[in-house]
Amino acid sequence: MLKKLFKSFHSPLRRAPRPRSTPEVLSSSQHPLKRNEISRHAISVVERLQKAGYQAYLVGGCVRDLLLDIDPKDFDVATSATPEQVRAEFRNARVIGRRFKLVHVHFGREIIEVATFRANHPQGDEEENSNLASRHESGRILRDNVYGTLEDDAQRRDFTINALYYDPTQEHILDYARGMHDVRNHLVRLIGDPEQRYLEDPVRMLRAVRFAAKLDFEIEKHSAAPIRRLAPMLRDIPSARLFDEVLKLFLSGYAEYTFDLLLEHDLFAQLFPASGAALKQNPQYTEKLIRQALINTDDRIHDGKSVTPAFLFAALLWPALPARVLQLQNKGMPPIPAMQEAAHELIAEQCQRIAVPKRFTIPIREIWDMQERLPRRSGKRADLLLENPRFRAGYDFLLLRELAGEDTGGLGEWWTDYQDANDSERRQMIRDLASKGESTGNAPRKRRRSNNNRRKRSDDSGGE
Ligand code: ATP
Ligand code: MG
Repeated sequence: MLKKLFKSFHSPLRRAPRPRSTPEVLSSSQHPLKRNEISRHAISVVERLQKAGYQAYLVGGCVRDLLLDIDPKDFDVATSATPEQVRAEFRNARVIGRRFKLVHVHFGREIIEVATFRANHPQGDEEENSNLASRHESGRILRDNVYGTLEDDAQRRDFTINALYYDPTQEHILDYARGMHDVRNHLVRLIGDPEQRYLEDPVRMLRAVRFAAKLDFEIEKHSAAPIRRLAPMLRDIPSARLFDEVLKLFLSGYAEYTFDLLLEHDLFAQLFPASGAALKQNPQYTEKLIRQALINTDDRIHDGKSVTPAFLFAALLWPALPARVLQLQNKGMPPIPAMQEAAHELIAEQCQRIAVPKRFTIPIREIWDMQERLPRRSGKRADLLLENPRFRAGYDFLLLRELAGEDTGGLGEWWTDYQDANDSERRQMIRDLASKGESTGNAPRKRRRSNNNRRKRSDDSGGE
């Protein structure tokens, strides 16, 4: 295993060096990368650009991941050609992005992203993706795309392990920032002065945690040290960018470990302020519920199953609800409207920090509404709930609450049995509930409805 090969290598921690202006060049015998492990489309893009007289390399996550025996998510190319020059070389290329122009070269479903060498611009947010446009109301100044040399391009990258350039023609790796050393020693280390690099772009704090979790690396101590102090700077980041980052943090298959690292570095409460407060007020339950949700998410991802951000956000925020509900009830609001209002406020507040799109906030509300409806099972209600498209998510969420230690009076088990039961068993289960006088949804009792209008009124207690 390559990992083993690297592990045998150890040298003491160093302070972040200034990036070098001449790279260390590793020939094919000095590194384990093999041309045939690399997307042939990515290689063809590099070769085409080189033949046209430009410099071109594979760079970033793909080189890092290949060195670590991980399948790269995608292949990025860095080049001296401008986006227009790149486009001119390929028929299947599109220039994307307004601020930072990139070129996407399409090969069927595979897209090779080609970026022109850029120089550092200390006031700017870095963003490799194009979905940033028009979201810089927060006062952070952005300068226009500044093209640069290969050396500039290496220096403006975030971590040493992300600044390795692979030339598939010569099979060389160019290392400007001692990235190979950090790959071998499993260290996430910022290039340059850590504090300055976080000030330039606070999202790098989240990226440090993300790579540490994904690669099972340590954040090098000088790169880790300023994070707690600078964590509040995340407030200045546009909420839409934070939404993208949070999805990457929690939907990459390492969410549970990421959560630990976010807590360790005081980043979690910056992203989820109300949940951060719940962690202080009710630490055991809150941590258990969130952790269990993240474990389930990781398991699903590792099993190749789909995951919905709505379920995840519903879980991340749920522990913050009771305190809100109580506050509103203390002001005289009845329980159900208090719950509705608390849910609404909590989501609205969270969206100030992380712009969760409506297509997810609506199902979050529906999952929460289900929690009120699942105990009410009388008459046809249980069957109607089973037909509800949100039943499954609501039921899974109920089980999650129980796993976290909430006492629901065995409601999860009841629903599990009900789903397995045949018609007559189901009718018996409902009769049993009524005879036990359990919460079957008939309260308040005086409003007994006739059979005729029961269905019409059914159980639509809330929703948006
Ligand atoms: P992943 O496996 O998550 O895609 P990646 O390293 O490819 O990891 P990307 O977000 O795709 O990460 O970014 C590609 C490259 O762009 C990084 O490897 C890094 O060199 C550079 N980069 C991205 N974001 C920043 C940033 N905020 N500051 C500096 N450099 C960045
Ligand atoms: Mg990438």
